[in-house]
Amino acid sequence: MNFDADVLVIGGGVTGCGILRDLALRGIRGILIDRGDLNSGASGGNHGLLHSGGRYASSDTETAAECRIEGEILKRTAPQAIDACGGLFVAVEGDDEGFIARFAARCAAAGIDCAPLAVDEVRRSEPAISERAIAAYAVPDATVDPFRLTIEQVADARRLADSLFLPHTEVTGFDIDGGRIRAARCRDTRSGEARIIRARQYVNAAGAWSMAVARLAGCDDVRVLWSKGTLVIANTRLTRRVVNRLRTPGDGDILVPGGTVSLLGTTSDTVADLDVIRPTPEEVDRNIEEGSVLIPALAHTRFIRAFAGVRPLLLPTGGDGDGRKASRGFTLFDHVAQGLGNFATIAGGKLTTFRLMAERTGDLVAARLGNREPCRTATEPLPALERSSWTEPGHSARTWFAAKNPADSILCECEMVPKSTVDAVLEMAPGAEPQMPLRAIGVRSRIGKGTCQGSFCAIRVTSHLYDRGTYGGREGLGLMRDFLAERYKGTRPVLWGPQMPQAELAETLHCGLLGLDLIDARGQDGEPR
Ligand SMILES: Cc1cc2nc3c(=O)[nH]c(=O)nc-3n(C[C@H](O)[C@H](O)[C@H](O)COP(=O)(O)OP(=O)(O)OC[C@H]3O[C@@H](n4cnc5c(N)ncnc54)[C@H](O)[C@@H]3O)c2cc1C
Repeated sequence: MNFDADVLVIGGGVTGCGILRDLALRGIRGILIDRGDLNSGASGGNHGLLHSGGRYASSDTETAAECRIEGEILKRTAPQAIDACGGLFVAVEGDDEGFIARFAARCAAAGIDCAPLAVDEVRRSEPAISERAIAAYAVPDATVDPFRLTIEQVADARRLADSLFLPHTEVTGFDIDGGRIRAARCRDTRSGEARIIRARQYVNAAGAWSMAVARLAGCDDVRVLWSKGTLVIANTRLTRRVVNRLRTPGDGDILVPGGTVSLLGTTSDTVADLDVIRPTPEEVDRNIEEGSVLIPALAHTRFIRAFAGVRPLLLPTGGDGDGRKASRGFTLFDHVAQGLGNFATIAGGKLTTFRLMAERTGDLVAARLGNREPCRTATEPLPALERSSWTEPGHSARTWFAAKNPADSILCECEMVPKSTVDAVLEMAPGAEPQMPLRAIGVRSRIGKGTCQGSFCAIRVTSHLYDRGTYGGREGLGLMRDFLAERYKGTRPVLWGPQMPQAELAETLHCGLLGLDLIDARGQDGEPR
């Protein structure tokens, strides 16, 4: 199947989705593609911290100010995706006193509100903080739901300009003629079917993969450093606010509350291969060891999962490849010097600054198309949609209790996701998705995100999908197996204490009862391994 649009945007992370909506607000119809689904890259594997800028105030005033401004804009325009819980920077005995003393002035230089707090007062409101705390400041940090942000941006772009999102669509090459890209050659990553997409402008927003996509068009000016970060999720909310360690950034020094859980991270290790990104037990240990200095309860908390993502950081000429020191700024490459007039790459940046990245890209692309509409994303609220609110912790449960419908049984008990939520998610399936994978349902709801990590709900949701005819034949079993394998990647590095019997029970169910270890990814019978 072939497609045509004004603009092809490559990469369905928060940046690509932001660009799709920015263009749609200017009346420009785009097609967004991702070789996986929405948020398959860093946008689905991050800390969810809407930075006040405090984290970068001591090293990079410009990025810190950018985060402050963009954070405030998002709080106004997309409040439904943000928990403005506030943040703390806390130092403990032994931390660098010079760093502590300079912090408030560095924040002031970036325009960040930063109020000193009495340590006793902080420990009264956040009892999980160590009694070894010696200094604390309050900053306007917040948390952000990147899944809701991307889903709602794509939905809004569709409403405004009939823009389209095609999942499982990987760009594999470009047809170039006369200094312009004429078509993108793509492949459906599930069926292998070839797709041709023709557009007037092409945007590369492929995050850590942007260097590879630029090279497909013959451009070698994009240089990205791959900085892997691993995080670990505790099964309770330990603090009301985001808690940052008041020191030079290091492993395990930020605890972000995420609804009912807490996310501890992150590590930073430069990697050379993007295909083998998974959290390791050693990285989990590093996070917990460092994190428990600030929040002692982390040493004996139950962790339900670890996950890893790759930060797409810009590698400056002469940079030494250290991800901690690399800038969190971004660059828009127009590729004119590379001989192409209708291709651009946006790379670097943060989740917090994606809107600004999309604005700069939208300005360039709109000008190239002769469109004079200004960017409106800084003022135009992102419409909050009921059907995208299933990503919010507790939302399904509240809706279910309010509806009081006994026929609407609960499929995921940890996150209280009922049948009606799964049905609602299926109705907003992107593009042609006859057999929406469990992972895609998980991205748009909270199935599999609780303590059991899909052990029970994967079976119940799959059964429901067979009952309603969404799945047929044996492929549904393969999709369930893929989902559980992906969940297991995250539970494996935290298998100790109470998680261990949970995993053994899951193994008995999935392998002993269902024989999922004997089928391949497409649900076909295979030889026992
Ligand atoms: C561990 C970690 C923690 C972080 N924490 C925070 C935080 O708390 N706050 C914050 O502001 N930022 C944070 N970040 C940074 C932030 O997550 C990223 O800057 C942001 O998500 C990047 O979004 P993106 O859309 O540019 O890239 P991505 O989200 O990586 O999206 C790129 C997409 O391109 C797709 N793609 C790749 N190749 C192709 C192809 N050939 N064809 C089609 N599609 C393709 C991929 O599948 C992917 O979905 C963190 C990052 C990491 C890794």
